[in-house]
Amino acid sequence: MAKKNFKKAATRIAVYPGSFDPITMGHVDIVERIAAAFDEVVVLISESTQKSSLFTREERKKLIQSVFSERKNIIVDTWDGLTVDYLAKINAGIIVRGLRAVVDFEYEMTMASMNKKLAPQVETMLVFASPEYYFISSRGVKEVAKNGGSLAGLVPDVVSQALAIKLKKRLAKKAKKS
Ligand code: ADP
Repeated sequence: MAKKNFKKAATRIAVYPGSFDPITMGHVDIVERIAAAFDEVVVLISESTQKSSLFTREERKKLIQSVFSERKNIIVDTWDGLTVDYLAKINAGIIVRGLRAVVDFEYEMTMASMNKKLAPQVETMLVFASPEYYFISSRGVKEVAKNGGSLAGLVPDVVSQALAIKLKKRLAKKAKKS
């Protein structure tokens, strides 16, 4: 029988872009699930021009890195420009986003369509939030933290600690001003 020539498959990289201000258990769940399906996952911290952030990009990067410190195939990076330009830079073809409720749908669909227009070779894949995490958002978590609620099960422990420190610093700064 003739020997077939198999080309070595290229590494399948999925890029998961977002603000991650900060990373929540909902994000962690999505990353874990993508990491099981791809060779490599890049968690890409991209600055949203429409949101002001609590944590700096470097702080967010360090937090995500410490959550996945044991995982060799999960990489954390930051990017200023278009997500599709980042994909071109690292030669990746898949963007993954998470979908919580119907309210996420329109935004995600618009963004996926824009990215398709900009880079037709790039596919956007949507992953449904797990039922136990679908209600978690970075914004909600910050609200709970600001008002002294428990963050157990909402964010990884390192994030919970970082939030406490950050908010304490903010309060001290405010008290100094007044
Ligand atoms: P962005 O500001 O770009 O929406 P986020 O950090 O808020 O960035 O979210 C990044 C991605 O993760 C988005 O696709 C968002 O829908 C998804 N996501 C956020 N929270 C959850 C969650 N609890 N479960 C699943 N996906 C989520």
